[in-house]
Amino acid sequence: MTYNPRKIERKWQRIWEKIGIFEAKDFSKKQKFYVLDMFPYPSAEGLHVGHPRGYIATDIYAHLMRRRDFNVLHPMGWDAFGLPTENYAIKTGIHPEITTKKNVKRMKEQMRMIGLGYDWLREINTTDPEYYKLTQKIFLLLYKMGLAYEAVLPINWCPSCKTGLANEEVIDGKCERCGAEVGKKDLRQWVLKITAYAERLLKDLDLLDWPEKIKEMQRNWIGKSEGWEIKFEIKNLKLEIPVFTTRADTLFGCTYLVLAPEHPIIQKLKSNIQNLKSIEEYIEKSKKKLERERISEAKEKTGIELKGIKAINPANNREIPIFVADYVLIHYGTGAVMAVPCHDQRDFDFARKSNLPMIEVIKPYFEEKKLPKEAPLIVSNGRFEKAYEGEGFLINSGRFTGMKSEEAREAIGQFLAKKNLPPTTFREKDLGKQTPQEVVGGSAKKAVYFKLRDWIFSRQRYWGEPIPIVHCEKCGIVPLLEKDLPLKLPRVKKYQPTGTGESPLAAIEKWVNTKCPKCGGPAKRETNTMPQWAGSCWYFIAYLLKKDKKYFWDKEKIKYWLPVELYVGGAEHAVLHLLYARFWTEVLYDAGWIKFKEPFLKLRNQGLILASDGQKMSKSRGNVINPDPLIEKYGADAFRLYEMFMGPFDEPINWNTKGLIGMKRFLEKVWNLFGKEKSIISVEEDREIEKLIHKTIKKITEDIENFRFNTAISALMILVNELQGKNYGIWHLKSLISILAPFAPHICEELWSSFAKASKDKQFNIKTSIHSRPWPKYDPKLIKEEIITLVIQVNGKVRDKIEVEADISEEKARELAISREKIKKWIKGKKIKKVIFVPGKLINLVVI
Ligand SMILES: [Zn+2]
Ligand SMILES: [Zn+2]
Repeated sequence: MTYNPRKIERKWQRIWEKIGIFEAKDFSKKQKFYVLDMFPYPSAEGLHVGHPRGYIATDIYAHLMRRRDFNVLHPMGWDAFGLPTENYAIKTGIHPEITTKKNVKRMKEQMRMIGLGYDWLREINTTDPEYYKLTQKIFLLLYKMGLAYEAVLPINWCPSCKTGLANEEVIDGKCERCGAEVGKKDLRQWVLKITAYAERLLKDLDLLDWPEKIKEMQRNWIGKSEGWEIKFEIKNLKLEIPVFTTRADTLFGCTYLVLAPEHPIIQKLKSNIQNLKSIEEYIEKSKKKLERERISEAKEKTGIELKGIKAINPANNREIPIFVADYVLIHYGTGAVMAVPCHDQRDFDFARKSNLPMIEVIKPYFEEKKLPKEAPLIVSNGRFEKAYEGEGFLINSGRFTGMKSEEAREAIGQFLAKKNLPPTTFREKDLGKQTPQEVVGGSAKKAVYFKLRDWIFSRQRYWGEPIPIVHCEKCGIVPLLEKDLPLKLPRVKKYQPTGTGESPLAAIEKWVNTKCPKCGGPAKRETNTMPQWAGSCWYFIAYLLKKDKKYFWDKEKIKYWLPVELYVGGAEHAVLHLLYARFWTEVLYDAGWIKFKEPFLKLRNQGLILASDGQKMSKSRGNVINPDPLIEKYGADAFRLYEMFMGPFDEPINWNTKGLIGMKRFLEKVWNLFGKEKSIISVEEDREIEKLIHKTIKKITEDIENFRFNTAISALMILVNELQGKNYGIWHLKSLISILAPFAPHICEELWSSFAKASKDKQFNIKTSIHSRPWPKYDPKLIKEEIITLVIQVNGKVRDKIEVEADISEEKARELAISREKIKKWIKGKKIKKVIFVPGKLINLVVI
């Protein structure tokens, strides 16, 4: 019989599902292991060959853990709200629900074809009203905890999708979804206070076994800076401007202040500003600019001085000018910065352009080997080539001159904190004698700022979870009662977004007009919907809660199954889903709904699979490769093997369909080993194969654990090649398919069942499946290699020594020897005439 994957794969897929071999048991006595894939968006295009890379990896891992006697949960579901389905509805008038159903059916079929062992009984779909009932319930929880609020904000606005976007959804100024340039629009929004969790989201990253790259991206996104908030008095006015800086050590070098155009103090200063008209014009102009434009490195910095107003530098009592410039953003720090042109390039560029004074206050350590004496004050214009932003000794800094900048930051901050304004007495001799005391209301305080901003949580679109809020004329914002959930999406005729900033829901009067749950009076429903990230913030919990098509918040199940031990998905979600889901988890923890703080203990990212030309696969490029015909032709097992063999798991790699041919051949070799086994072989022959098998078991086990699927498959290939040329018994073949089974589950099940004589459905059960066999252990005694020192000679002279396995072959020894750096120089340009090899001792290369 020849190997025919088409004949066996469908059969086994059906049997596995029928006997429920991949279903997880709640509360089993076994140790639990929760392995999770990022659930996909059910798109009309279905899966392309890039999607299953992660799914196959988790499937292999799940097989390993199941066979190690863990109670494994490996579920799958659909993250089905979102724009593509809605856009399709706009184009065709087909309701997103219908499209979603169709797409889910197709993708599920594709996953089955690959032989992925999911527990389909737990399948979830975020657009199921029973599902989003809980998403809405969690929203109400956020609202009650004061973590969801309404605000009119200038938000990122995608003119093509006609909706607001979160900061995380704007990539290089473009819409994450459609690629259009993102603009600005003032809109009433629902906002989630993720900033309240900034510190915890940062700190708890340390608890996680995640790729360092992803953790670093989250750290940068949260962007914590610690420094000082220093107050600058405005001359002759009882006003002050707080400024946040991480470089208090450069305070003596501050020669002007810069305010963001939106800074509220400008309004208060109006009557004192001599050039008010030009200031107002400037502010108007900056309103039209995008944030990205304002802070772009490439763009020239503009700004305008507030004439008639001066601030006082609290360090040296100098009067300094105040500017308004749009490169300063109102929402970062205090919306005002102290400009130190000598030690900040942006300030330097601006100062040079506006001919402002510069004071050098930091001498780089590499220039100044010892502490400089107090130098006279140097004020210069344009004397410097560029700013020095590094650390060094302080100069021109009064009593702090000579101090190291790292220490001076704290010292200057502390000094200002303890002195009340104005600290004009810096050079007074008795300053050093002051006893430290904690004075609140001094001219500085320690401060921490985060880059993270609150999460804009509403979208002006149809295909999302309705926000369970009404607006009552009398009571204002009123949350829906829990018993009224789910608040279902109404049917609409037109899905087209209005573009005015209102969702299509606003046009359905019957739905919009409702009664206030509090006073019974007339009220209007919130017509914004939730962003597509809402449903995925808690879906890892949802898999546990489904019962008879409904969801019950079962704390015992949550306690049993969570958190997730292994999570696999794309790195592109670093500051989106992966941050949002962590945020909701912290909130649910605080509310006592769950007992864990972090949802995903271990995360691994798969690398992208690119088209054969190295481009990203996309419908628009027309280079998408569909797995279905490949599986039809080569089989699911060959497909799985190729996906895992093509390269290191976390690296991007180009697709090459030819690679499948090799995998199919490999499986044919495995198939053809059967029937050629001997009933008796010699003890020596047996021992040799046993040794290799045990070595392979060790390698494969460790490789799966470390996501080195490609090298695991190479080890399997080596084993198969060895068997081909030798005498072997059926027991050897059993070992082979036992460890090949996670990678190529169908062929192994087929071969296994052929000895069990249980290939008929009736007789086959979970216990007889190879996927229930205990994972083999290796015998450390069998794989212990004797290591010896091999002497390498060139023309009889010892030139190098290496540690090698005692049974190294001449061929391998020669290969190793000529690759050694020390040997290369002796044989370079020469011909190897002869090789003398003494096994276990030496190799001598005779060259001429
Ligand atoms: Zn867009
Ligand atoms: Zn009311």
